[in-house]
Amino acid sequence: MESSANIGFYQFVPIELELLTDRDITHMWTQGEAENHGATFSYNTTVIGGHIEENRLSLHISETKHLENWNGKFPLQPEMVLIPKLVVNSAGLSAPVLAKRFDGLRSAVIPPTYYARGCYFTLSNTTICPFKHLIYPIPEDGGLGVHVTLDLNGQVKFGPNVEWIDGIDDVSSFLNKFDYSVCTNRAKLFYPEIRKYYPNLKDGSLDPGYAGIRPKLSGPRQSPVDFVIQGEDIHGITGLVNLFGIESPGLTSSMGVAEHIATRFFRC
Ligand SMILES: Cc1cc2nc3c(=O)[nH]c(=O)nc-3n(C[C@H](O)[C@H](O)[C@H](O)COP(=O)(O)OP(=O)(O)OC[C@H]3O[C@@H](n4cnc5c(N)ncnc54)[C@H](O)[C@@H]3O)c2cc1C
Repeated sequence: MESSANIGFYQFVPIELELLTDRDITHMWTQGEAENHGATFSYNTTVIGGHIEENRLSLHISETKHLENWNGKFPLQPEMVLIPKLVVNSAGLSAPVLAKRFDGLRSAVIPPTYYARGCYFTLSNTTICPFKHLIYPIPEDGGLGVHVTLDLNGQVKFGPNVEWIDGIDDVSSFLNKFDYSVCTNRAKLFYPEIRKYYPNLKDGSLDPGYAGIRPKLSGPRQSPVDFVIQGEDIHGITGLVNLFGIESPGLTSSMGVAEHIATRFFRC
């Protein structure tokens, strides 16, 4: 809207703004446009590793269903090997573990990863929404603090908190076997946080919502470490870009990150 206003469109063109979910974005823009430009999406397919040949990465691919009973004790056999010009390892929580499975990539370039669950609670028993805006408290160690979000249906959500998750081994991380449940008991930690800016919050008015997990590059009580976009200049492998620690606002900035990668690393 701002750019339309700058070029004088704003007064003449009726602009309808619409809130979009991440699913809307994926389906409306990314997938449709990409397919129009010749991209192919391969669902239920897992990159199980890779190897370096002539300083390029060959990707090992398998159908996801073949990993269901894998316990890490036997080597995975690829059903297909791809030799792409550019590989962007954007596997989110699994990105560092996937990078460890690229045979020939120096382990020193793969940062240690920490995982922090973030839970949301929703406000129940309220007919009139008490908030008109998002509210952000002072950030806490590892996160933005339990803030107020109004979702597309006008429902009030409080969160996310920061719960450091210990003891995740590489196999669990690779297979995304994280616990995404929201324990009702955690509500008692939310009440005092929320009452700092919403003192009228009634006992019993929080319901468990959902949880997400942040891939973090710094652990509890460590200084925050920013995300990493890692190319050939760091690891020496042509055509490999690793994305590590892409936490919030990774979704909002995804188009910018993609543009940066295309401009900086893609060679025809
Ligand atoms: C609680 C919470 C709240 C957040 N709120 C916001 C927000 O308000 N705004 C915002 O901008 N961001 C927010 N984020 C951050 C945002 O969700 C992430 O930054 C973003 O999703 C990262 O995108 P990604 O593509 O790097 O990873 P992901 O979204 O995690 O995607 C990785 C994909 O790779 C796939 N994958 C993994 N391993 C393999 C493999 N071996 N082979 C093939 N595919 C694989 C996965 O299935 C997945 O589809 C939030 C995150 C959390 C946890």
